[in-house]
Amino acid sequence: MNKISVLLLLLVALFAGNVVVAQTPSQPAPITAIRAGRLIDPETGTAAVNQVIIIEGEKIKAVGANLAIPAGATVIDLSKLTVMPGLVDAHTHMAMTYKEQPENNYYYLTYVMESTPLRAIQAASNGIQLLNAGFTVIRDVGNNGMYADTALRQAIEQGWLPGPTVIPSGIIIGGTGGQLWPTPEMYKQHNIVYPEYLDANSHDEIVRAVRENMLFGARTIKLCIDCKPWGYSVEDIKLAISEAAKGGCKVEGHVQTPEGAQRAIDAGIYIIGHGNALTPEHHRQMAEKGIFLAGTDTPYTNYRGTENAFRQTVDKLRDAWEKKVQLTYSTDFDYWNERMKDEKTGEWLSRGDLTIAFLDTWKAARIPAADILRAITINGYKAADIIKERGPIKPGFYADLIAVAGDPLTDIDALRRVQFVMKNGMVFKKDGVMTPEKFFHPGPVRIPSGRYTR
Ligand SMILES: [Zn+2]
Repeated sequence: MNKISVLLLLLVALFAGNVVVAQTPSQPAPITAIRAGRLIDPETGTAAVNQVIIIEGEKIKAVGANLAIPAGATVIDLSKLTVMPGLVDAHTHMAMTYKEQPENNYYYLTYVMESTPLRAIQAASNGIQLLNAGFTVIRDVGNNGMYADTALRQAIEQGWLPGPTVIPSGIIIGGTGGQLWPTPEMYKQHNIVYPEYLDANSHDEIVRAVRENMLFGARTIKLCIDCKPWGYSVEDIKLAISEAAKGGCKVEGHVQTPEGAQRAIDAGIYIIGHGNALTPEHHRQMAEKGIFLAGTDTPYTNYRGTENAFRQTVDKLRDAWEKKVQLTYSTDFDYWNERMKDEKTGEWLSRGDLTIAFLDTWKAARIPAADILRAITINGYKAADIIKERGPIKPGFYADLIAVAGDPLTDIDALRRVQFVMKNGMVFKKDGVMTPEKFFHPGPVRIPSGRYTR
């Protein structure tokens, strides 16, 4: 077959596909009206009472005090609850869980013992647990085997299962070795473990690595800035930023040394991941440049952490807040152990419970509730670079919202009691119980374009 007839066939196939879509009877988008007893705007840290939110299909159409409820609308009564935007974990890992048994918390072994497909299924479960806790957006930044993270994003976007909006990074990009100290067998043969990091040393390799991740569905790029003594220079980081921008991606730098932090700041990185190595001077510069911090501020609990590390984490978070750094709520969650149970009931803690438990660190740092709310919503949407589509409860935005008992503006722990979750205008949780039926669909709800990338 010559090239022209192949092209013609392709065109016919595309056209046929469009005809099928056009013939699908178009039903009017369902209208939902929510009565909100209290509606929080985390941007301003204020609340309005007795609001009505009108939702048409997936998006918010109107918000106000005395809105007429359209005939035929489904009315949801949240008049005894506080409604607010969904929550954001700005740095987590959905498809990596290292354990005490069998791998003795040694995460190299998790990579060896658990396949990407197995980890992708775990990621799907984690996504449902997070959505149940009110997290409607997550940034999933690496350690997902061979792209379990972008697969999860595609599966949720296609409507196969419920889950947060996933902003995946694909494989973490680092200089030789990444975060690992591989054996020569691992490094040279790349048969085991190596999917976890893309080695990129020269400028050509950095460009190639960024492009590969975007090709396979990444929505953000993650660099190991200083995981090895040879780390990335300011020029290297700038190159990654400009290449990522071509695919609409912002760059997060994993930072673990003060020198690495300085290089990331000098290069104008968008987000710094992990706050441990940052000094008050770094915080000052980050605030000046508007760089987001995903501090991954681990609380001290009976299942994780030490008192000493916790005190340092709290002090760093407090200083970053005092310096007015753009803080996001972030966990770096990627572990599990047998002690993760509710101390009172003895029930297992879900991935959602474990994620919202990071509030303990923010409370210990004496961050005001309104500022925690901004970090866990608006700043998260900005760091995820989706603030133009999701987050604010305003006309034109996707209807992603939650409701809690109590008032999180005065008692931040109210966020632990999420009673209602709506994602894309569909109810996922009501009266404290998951009602996910509408989220399960046997085929793509959205027609995928190309290879599901931008
Ligand atoms: Zn991490």
